[in-house]
Amino acid sequence: MNQEIESKKIITRFPPSPTGKLQLGNARTALFNYLFAKKNGGSFLFRLEDTDKERSKKEYETDVIESLAWLGLRHDNREIQKQSERVEIYKAQLKRLVDQGLAYISKETELSQEPASGFQSPKKKDGERREEVIRFKNPNKVITFTDLIRGEITFDTTELGDFVIAKSMDEPIYHLAVVIDDAEMDITHVIRGEDGISNTPRQILIQEALGFPRPLYAHLPLILAPDRTKLSKRHGAIPVSEYRAQGYIPEAVLNYLALLGWNPGTEQELFSLEELSRLFDLGKVQKGGAVFDEEKMRSVNKEYLKKAGAASVIPHIPSELTAGRSVSQVQALAGMLLERISVYGDIKTELTAGEYEYLLNDPIYAKEMLKWKKAKSEPKEHLENVCSLVEKISPDTFTVSDIKEAVFPYAEAKGKGDVLWPTRVALSGKEQSPDPFTLSALLGKEATVKRLRTAINMLE
Ligand code: GLU
Repeated sequence: MNQEIESKKIITRFPPSPTGKLQLGNARTALFNYLFAKKNGGSFLFRLEDTDKERSKKEYETDVIESLAWLGLRHDNREIQKQSERVEIYKAQLKRLVDQGLAYISKETELSQEPASGFQSPKKKDGERREEVIRFKNPNKVITFTDLIRGEITFDTTELGDFVIAKSMDEPIYHLAVVIDDAEMDITHVIRGEDGISNTPRQILIQEALGFPRPLYAHLPLILAPDRTKLSKRHGAIPVSEYRAQGYIPEAVLNYLALLGWNPGTEQELFSLEELSRLFDLGKVQKGGAVFDEEKMRSVNKEYLKKAGAASVIPHIPSELTAGRSVSQVQALAGMLLERISVYGDIKTELTAGEYEYLLNDPIYAKEMLKWKKAKSEPKEHLENVCSLVEKISPDTFTVSDIKEAVFPYAEAKGKGDVLWPTRVALSGKEQSPDPFTLSALLGKEATVKRLRTAINMLE
């Protein structure tokens, strides 16, 4: 390991290419870089690697920046550095390499034999001919680097050949830009996805040619689908902004992401960003792939929802459900929804699925449903008694607890199922629904009494 680096201030970086929206996997990379920097009193820097002009788009840049901000991963550099604005700097270094004989202008007629040059290799359009490219003069040596997660990795660079580092003296490409930026930003730790491993030897060769210090490397495990295949759209490879739109809480997403490939070795599962920044340990990151589990992510979100409480649900209730309801009805509704949902967007999904039809219209059901299967008594009398108990409650204090206080002793005396089942069916028309006290509170006194009377009439 590099002694010099160990005594320096730790600086990490997150350098996405704006060729797509910010995906969960990349967000995890950002998070681990952030946590490692914070844990060590260092800095977390952000830059945009937009050297691929064809695929980089402004809308993706915006998405990446907004998603990071939404997650609360603040970078320490005030200005966002963009590779497209730094071409002159790369050109100067390119010239230096060529002048020193460490790279050369190569006349080519056909580019198709091009060795792969990393995930941002210049794309060759069919039939494209280029007269010259700049190739790095490979010293053909064995490179060994210590990966902080995987240990020692050795790579014979001979197989890379003289790889391309610029399309022309004016168009440096990805690997060169990365190496120069990392050196200029004084990056001490490159923490990135496992798919970056194969780029490392190439980047180390360029570093050595330019006389730059070598940062330490840590390659994070891939994120896998539950069947251990590559994560696809079907399994959560959807952008962070999509989770945001679905009503996830950013702290919950971060919390879940932190556990994708890392855990502190205790039973604890819920962590604030501040806590993570204290506990995070690169040494505890696993080598093997981390399986993405959407249900788990939803359950983590549910824990954060519970902490946020019913009041936090109110702004997420579609207006169809709140229209015409009093403050206390809406509060009861929010309390009921909080119990059911895992992400705020579930409300809309369930509404669309007809789950809350009873909130919008008087229920339609067969009168036989009013009798509980195990009932020992007839429902009609119970409904009449419940109705008169409910009628005595003031409409101003028509809350879940007041309703329960008024009705529950009667139900306990006569048999809970015998009394509460028909009451619930009268209010919701459903076999399964929230309890009748909650239903009454969110329907309000008038609608509750009306629905109970309708049920009583059906049993006449
Ligand atoms: N721009 C690269 C990407 O988005 C960054 C790779 C690296 O961290 O070096 O994958």
